[in-house]
Amino acid sequence: MAQSKILEALLETTSDAVIITDGKNRIVQINSFFEEITGFNLGDLSGKHPQFLAAERNESIFKTTIERSLISKGYWTGEFWCRKRDQETALLTLTFTEIKDKNGNASNYLGVFKQTEHNDANFHPDQAHNRDALTGLPGSELFNDRVEQSLILANRAEKSLAILRIGLDSFSLINDGLTHEVGDKLLQEVAKRLSKCVRQSDTTARIGGDQFGLSLAITSIDDSVLVAEKVLRTLAAPFAINDQEVVIGASIGISLFPNDGETGPHLVEHAHSAMRYAKKSGGAQYQFFANDMNDKAKTRISMEAAMRRALDNGEYHLNYQPKVASEDFKVKGMEALVRWTNSDGDFISPGEFIPIAEECGLIVPIGYWVLEEACRQNKEWLDKGLLKTRLAVNVSGRQLMRDDFIKQVERVMVETSIPPEWLELEITESMLMGDTEKTIEKLDTIRSMGISLAIDDFGTGYSSLSYLSRFPITTLKIDRAFVNDIESNADTAEIARAIIGLSRGLDLEVVAEGAENAAHVAFLKDQGCDLIQGFYFSRPLSSEKYEDILKSGGVIDLT
Ligand code: C2E
Ligand code: MG
Ligand code: MG
Repeated sequence: MAQSKILEALLETTSDAVIITDGKNRIVQINSFFEEITGFNLGDLSGKHPQFLAAERNESIFKTTIERSLISKGYWTGEFWCRKRDQETALLTLTFTEIKDKNGNASNYLGVFKQTEHNDANFHPDQAHNRDALTGLPGSELFNDRVEQSLILANRAEKSLAILRIGLDSFSLINDGLTHEVGDKLLQEVAKRLSKCVRQSDTTARIGGDQFGLSLAITSIDDSVLVAEKVLRTLAAPFAINDQEVVIGASIGISLFPNDGETGPHLVEHAHSAMRYAKKSGGAQYQFFANDMNDKAKTRISMEAAMRRALDNGEYHLNYQPKVASEDFKVKGMEALVRWTNSDGDFISPGEFIPIAEECGLIVPIGYWVLEEACRQNKEWLDKGLLKTRLAVNVSGRQLMRDDFIKQVERVMVETSIPPEWLELEITESMLMGDTEKTIEKLDTIRSMGISLAIDDFGTGYSSLSYLSRFPITTLKIDRAFVNDIESNADTAEIARAIIGLSRGLDLEVVAEGAENAAHVAFLKDQGCDLIQGFYFSRPLSSEKYEDILKSGGVIDLT
């Protein structure tokens, strides 16, 4: 009793955050300072392994590092990214020690956390080896360490990593010309701006006099392009230092894991040589270590710019691909598919530009242009007294996510006066995963307007069948990958069969896309698929050619 009182008193007087676990490493006690800095109380943590406290970027540090050290040395000390209750993370120095009973078995473990952030009152730059005293950022040694850690994580998660080395252009002119004091302040301001360009889980470091390093977890090379561009933009804005306006540029070198190297030192060195090349090429730019990446980045950037212009220049147009009824092979509907012929007259396939438009957000204006043009066109056909067919328009997740989505659809409906029963929106499965409540609300509104809703590429996403009953959908579109494999793969045929059966059970219309030959069509017809779309009946057509089919009453000439 007395002992535990002493322990409690000790825990509350120490200036460190402390946790205590039992012999099986289950948390049994924390002090109030720990509660203060993490927000967790004992109720949240009691009985949990301290692993629970490891933030994502070092999520398996106990298994990979700490436990090994406990076995060999009985303690571990090092940097630890700690999870907080509010989902934030804190970088702390953790000392984790095994306490043995008289038989030499672990009776408890003691975790002592010290704050390491430089904004903390306990932080003294001279004590924090590895940190740069001027900016408070990690220094080069710590940077290399962090790169090494991130590599382990990236490797395990099969993810990529980008190392950016940033050099300030003509920094010596400022340092020598405007005094070192101005130079120092500039470096501090640069450090602040750089830290804002990356996520909290990424690393920003000062790795040389006028050089900074970033280590970024990325999912595609485009992520590194986006950050590099952001860095160039933020550093290009003038700095106000001692009432003086200072302008500085930067050169950035980028290396990528695993493409440009498998080890930390290689990646850091390759980013350095890419940075030297960026400087030699005139500065104020970024360069990838691998030349083909530079080409890719350039293509991407010029593609973005060209796509932007294409909207104003009217370079997009639409094709219409028929969907036929499986019972009589007559056309019942069509899907509007966007096409782009650029100003040089080159045709760019949607498979190439749609993903980029999705990423940079241009899919939103392009998508509304498609909706508007397709509705206008179908209204024209409906008014001509030809065969009436339903128009399907693809809607991107970026459109659906926006607050003005419903308003935009309403606007197009009013402007084109298309009757809602002749319009269907195709959304892909993955879009239904996000902000579910909001999405359901929007889709309910679309349905209450009388517009049909199809799930596109069904079967390829993270298929949770539960949403089929929760989302107000009318149609399932079986992805063309399944249809294509029907003949050669019994399992796929079974999936296609199951989706058709499922649709029937849920009273949904079912469409198959990608039917390319008579065997596909026979199978789909046999299984009772309602509508079929695919090259066997027709490729996507110009509006004139589609109109010819409408004139014929929906008959497609298969000869
Ligand atoms: P999607 O919506 O699944 O469209 C069907 C795609 O399958 C079209 O490719 C179509 O040409 C192709 N296809 C149709 N029948 C066959 C067939 O028998 N065999 C094969 N191999 N392919 C067939 P497309 O036009 O290249 O479009 C590709 C994707 O681009 C579309 O897939 C859609 O996700 C996107 N997309 C096209 N237009 C738009 C648009 O206006 N807005 C949005 N957000 N996405 C669009
Ligand atoms: Mg589609
Ligand atoms: Mg599809």
